[in-house]
Amino acid sequence: MLTHLQHYHRPNSLSRAFAVLRQDPQAARLLAGGSKLLASELPEVTQVVDVANLGLGGIAARSRTLTMGAATPVQDLLESAEVSAWTRGILGEACLAATSSLLLRNRSTLGGEIAGAGVQAPIVAALLVLKASLSVYTGSKSKIDLADYLSARADGSLGPHIVTAVAVPKLDRRLDTRLQRLTQLASGPSLALIVVALESRRAGCGQPRIAVTAATLSPSRLRAAEELLDGRRLTAETIRDAAQAASQEVQSFGDQHASAEYRREMTGVLLRRALVHLAGPESAGA
Ligand SMILES: Cc1cc2nc3c(=O)[nH]c(=O)nc-3n(C[C@H](O)[C@H](O)[C@H](O)COP(=O)(O)OP(=O)(O)OC[C@H]3O[C@@H](n4cnc5c(N)ncnc54)[C@H](O)[C@@H]3O)c2cc1C
Repeated sequence: MLTHLQHYHRPNSLSRAFAVLRQDPQAARLLAGGSKLLASELPEVTQVVDVANLGLGGIAARSRTLTMGAATPVQDLLESAEVSAWTRGILGEACLAATSSLLLRNRSTLGGEIAGAGVQAPIVAALLVLKASLSVYTGSKSKIDLADYLSARADGSLGPHIVTAVAVPKLDRRLDTRLQRLTQLASGPSLALIVVALESRRAGCGQPRIAVTAATLSPSRLRAAEELLDGRRLTAETIRDAAQAASQEVQSFGDQHASAEYRREMTGVLLRRALVHLAGPESAGA
């Protein structure tokens, strides 16, 4: 709990909200659904800036881009026919994998999922595969690719910022998607989870994209496994090679739920299962 909280701000403009964050980046934090921030132990945090009046809600599909406001509750993403059609259900599946609690899905927001992304980040993993980009306010508006945002967040070069919206290009009709997760309890957190999108052509795989979460401390793409799949037919051999490449590449970690070795192994197993599903009969023996 934020035991040292002194100030609660509810500005109605991005510039005002950002001014508070920039004035004291250590002590001031953006508050969206609060399901992570208010539950965290951060003694340095004395001020919160509520996003409620910043107009960051809404979902809109225009020509080639679906735009989702950062303050959109996860449950609204799950219930949105536009999001379902645009992402062919993979983002909805990720919302269900994020938490089985309807209460929490009604509280937590897309922006909070992205900015607060930690071990359990299925929504971010799906957005990585969907090639999402973010609109970010840092005194002026700019766009950043989600993968670059996560790296900048990781190396601390991001500084105070407000994610205002998330854009997803239309999912290529030729792409098939699959979310595969391993949990101890269906309603519990995942031990490993991957999201795959690819075009399974007879001539060979096209546009393979693979993201992993829950087996790693932060969601990431599995580039080596993607490169290995690119242009190869989804035969049993290719699938085995890709699963092995994923296990070798994943930066897994250990905790009381599972060892790093186990999560590494399971990442490969989940990828094999997803590829067998996407390949259909051609993968016999994988
Ligand atoms: C019982 C319980 C179980 C949970 N289980 C999980 C779990 O399994 N996995 C998991 O990942 N999380 C879990 N959470 C945490 C939480 O639900 C999610 O991380 C959620 O997505 C956070 O969204 P929020 O809108 O509530 O964010 P908040 O808690 O409001 O904010 C989270 C972080 O993101 C920042 N932030 C929020 N919005 C923006 C924005 N627009 N721009 C920039 N920064 C922003 C905040 O400053 C803060 O640092 C759980 C929480 C609870 C209470």
